[in-house]
Amino acid sequence: MSKLKEIIAAKIGSNGPINIAEFMGDALGYPELGYYHTRDPFGSGGDFITAPEISQMFGEMIAIFIVDAWDKIGKPEEFALIEMGPGRGTLMFDVMRILSSVPDIKGRAKIHLIETSPILRKSQKVTLDGHDIIWHNDFENLPEIPSIFIGNEFFDALPIQQFRKIQDKWQELGVKYNRFEEKFEFTLLPTTLPKSSKLLDEAEDLSVFAISPISIDIMQKIAKHIALNKGVCLVIDYGHVKTDIGDTLQAVKDHKYVPVLNDVGEVDITAHVDFEALQKSAKIVDGISASVTVNQAEFLQKLGIVYRANDLSKDPDNYATIHSQLKRLLDEGEMGKLFKVMAIYNDDIESLVGF
Ligand code: SAH
Repeated sequence: MSKLKEIIAAKIGSNGPINIAEFMGDALGYPELGYYHTRDPFGSGGDFITAPEISQMFGEMIAIFIVDAWDKIGKPEEFALIEMGPGRGTLMFDVMRILSSVPDIKGRAKIHLIETSPILRKSQKVTLDGHDIIWHNDFENLPEIPSIFIGNEFFDALPIQQFRKIQDKWQELGVKYNRFEEKFEFTLLPTTLPKSSKLLDEAEDLSVFAISPISIDIMQKIAKHIALNKGVCLVIDYGHVKTDIGDTLQAVKDHKYVPVLNDVGEVDITAHVDFEALQKSAKIVDGISASVTVNQAEFLQKLGIVYRANDLSKDPDNYATIHSQLKRLLDEGEMGKLFKVMAIYNDDIESLVGF
């Protein structure tokens, strides 16, 4: 049995079942043993692939968004470029390559990376060799200067709580340990979801509903930071535009879906992001607006990805590769529709490119 499985099983053995958020938090982020702490999961030899790893064009489009955002917040002489969950650092690498070629903005971005995994921090250091970088474990000590936040596939990795509707009560789902079969199993906890809404009231019996208090808390911290210092935050992730019913908790290993509770620490566990909940939590903060949520395909096309693809594929040797990358980023059956994009910003900004 793996060390992490033993630790979680022992915890449940002495304190009783834990909620999904605690299981997910331990599975992904338990110091030294959690999924992100023990491996680089990206690419064809890993478990999954992300947009910046698919194509340099993704980071290039984000760079254009950043130049526009910097312009709209009043062209500060210096600003913090804060990436949340930067993986291998590939997105930041492509962004900085473009920013350093735009004379107005060149040299003004101070890179801050929010990353809890020591292994991925090492990777980021290698990828971003030559850049000054400040790493953070959380959102507590960010610099009090204008800030542009970016996060691709960050929020989907944050823990969620799930509730199941049973006879008009939303009862929390948890994880117990079956000692005889040596495996984790879903169970019901005594806690219930206190709030009610039309959506919840009309949902059928046995429906599942998820919330992510950690994501809400982070979004509010970002919103307050932006309200105080000026700034923009761009969120790209898979998820839904409107808060909805449904079980989206999933686990992936070797590019395939696998059971969520098996092989804890060896599989990537994520859940779809509730963009409406994020928007609402940001807008509560005085002086903060949120964009609409758009599909990744729409966002990247508005930023000019097709022109860039055509430019890069002028060299016939690149044509097939560039067009297959473009397809993966934009097609409905690939990332184009499932992935969504939204931004939050100071309410004196009228609009941002891409939306
Ligand atoms: N943005 C990257 C990686 C996405 S994977 C890309 O698009 O390729 C999720 C990233 O978030 C990893 O870098 C992971 O280590 C980091 N992460 C997960 N949970 C985190 C947390 N609670 N705090 C900070 N970083 C976290």
